[in-house]
Amino acid sequence: MLSIQLHPARFRQLGSQFYSEVVAEPLPATQLLAWNSELAASMGLPLDVNQIPNAADSFAGNQAIAAEPPIATVYSGHQFGVWAGQLGDGRAMLLGELAGQEIQLKGAGQTPYSRRADGRAVLRSSIREYLCSEAMHGLGIPTTRALALVASPETVWRETQETAAVVTRVAPSFLRFGHFEHFYYLGNHTALKALADFAIAHYFPHHRDAANPYQAMLSEVVARTAELIADWQAVGFCHGVMNTDNMSLLGLTIDYGPFGFLDGFDAGHICNHSDHSGRYAYGMQPEVGLFNLNCLAQALLPLLDRDEAIAALKQYQGEFETALAERFRAKLGLVDEAPDDWQLFTRLFDLLQAGHTDWTIFWRALCHFDMTSLNEPVRNLMVDRDAFDAWAWDYKVRLALEGRDQAERQTAMLAVNPKYILRNHLAEQAIRQANAGDFREITRLQTLLARPFDEQPDFEAYAGLPPDWATELSVSCSS
Ligand code: AMP
Ligand code: MG
Repeated sequence: MLSIQLHPARFRQLGSQFYSEVVAEPLPATQLLAWNSELAASMGLPLDVNQIPNAADSFAGNQAIAAEPPIATVYSGHQFGVWAGQLGDGRAMLLGELAGQEIQLKGAGQTPYSRRADGRAVLRSSIREYLCSEAMHGLGIPTTRALALVASPETVWRETQETAAVVTRVAPSFLRFGHFEHFYYLGNHTALKALADFAIAHYFPHHRDAANPYQAMLSEVVARTAELIADWQAVGFCHGVMNTDNMSLLGLTIDYGPFGFLDGFDAGHICNHSDHSGRYAYGMQPEVGLFNLNCLAQALLPLLDRDEAIAALKQYQGEFETALAERFRAKLGLVDEAPDDWQLFTRLFDLLQAGHTDWTIFWRALCHFDMTSLNEPVRNLMVDRDAFDAWAWDYKVRLALEGRDQAERQTAMLAVNPKYILRNHLAEQAIRQANAGDFREITRLQTLLARPFDEQPDFEAYAGLPPDWATELSVSCSS
C-alpha cells in the first residue's frame, strides 16, 4: 500500500488575499469509477489504484492527502462579453502538488466563491470532463488532465434530480485570465504585480530577464492562445463557454462544460444550448480568443506600457492564421507554403459547409486521396460533386507540384486527422450506462481516445456518423 502525500501548493506563497482555505464536504458511499493510470504513473503514483488505500475517499475529498487544508482561489471574469465581477473556484479546490503539477478536486463542496450554488458537479458533466480532457490529450492538444473520477449517490439538483461526482484535475497551473482581471478591477496593483511575478517565476521563468517580463509573458500567452485555438479549429472542438475565467494563462483547454466536437461541418455551430446569441459558435472562437486576450492585456496595463500591450495583441491575428494554415496544410498532406493556400482551404470549407459534411469522417477519408482515381469515398461525402471535382483537381495539382511520395503523404495525414473523437453521442452512451450502474464504457472510451489516430478495428462503430437520436441531445451550462 502506498499512501499519497502531496507537496504544498506553490500558490499558497501568494498569501491569503489570493485564496481561502476550505474544507471538502464529505460525500457518502464514494465509488472510484475511473483512474488514469498513465497520468498517475507519470506523476509517480501507482498504475494500480488498488495500491492506494481509500482511493475513492481520497479523491472525493473525504480524506486528506495533504498536510495543509485545500484552498479555493479567487478570480473574476468577463462572461459572454460582460464584466461579471468576482467569481472564483466555486466548486474547485486545490489540494497540493505532485511532480510539479497542481492537483485539484472539482465538485468537492462549497467554497466562499460558490455564490449560492452547491459546490457540486453532477455525474454527467464529470464523465464528460474526465473523458474530454483525456481525449484532447490524446489528440495532442494542450489541456488540463483528469486523474480520477469518483461518484456518490448524493443527490444534486439541476433541472432534475441527479447524483454527485468529483473529478481530480491536474495541470501545472490553473491560473486563468480572470485571476489578473480580479486584482486589476479591484485597483489592487500590488497584488496584481505579485501575481504576475509569481506566474513568471514559476511558469515563464525564461522571461524573467526580459526588458519587460510582463510584456514578454503577455506575448507568450497571445502566442499560446493562438496555437490552442488553431488546434481547436482543426479538430472541430467547440469550447462552448469561452469566458475569460475559463481561459488558461498557460494556453491549456480548461473547464469542460457544454463543449462539443463538430459532426457535420457548420461554421456557425453552437454547442452550448445556453448560448442564445452564438457568441461562442465554432467560427467565432478565434475572434473571442482575441477579445479575451484584450481583457488580459487590459488587466496587465499597470505593469506595462499601453504600446507594449497593443504590440503583443497585434501579433495574435498573424500568429493564429499561421498556426491555422500549418494545421490545414498538415491535414491536407501538404508540406510547402503556397500563395493559394487560403483559397484552397476556404473553397474546401465552402464545400463542407454546403453539405454539412461530417468533419472528422471527411478528413479521415481524405487521408486516402489518390492521385490517379476519382476518389469516390471522399467524393461521395459531398453534396456538390462537380464543385468537389474542381477542388480535387486543384488539390492534385498542388500535390503533384510537391512531388511527395503518396504513401508517405497518406501516413503523415493519418497521423494528424483523427479517426476517433469524443462525439456527443459517445459521451452520452457512457453517461446513460453509468446512470444505470455500468461504468465500463468510461474506461472503454478513455482507452479508445488515448490513441485517436490509430485504426482500432474493434471500435469501427465509434468512428461512424452519429445516430439519429443524437440530434436530440443538447448540452447547456448546467453542470
Ligand atoms: P463556469 O460557467 O462553469 O465556468 O462557472 C462560472 C462560475 O460559477 C465559477 O466561479 C464556478 O466556480 C461557479 N460555479 C459553477 N457551478 C457551480 C456550482 N455548482 N457550485 C458552485 N459554484 C459553481
Ligand atoms: Mg469555469
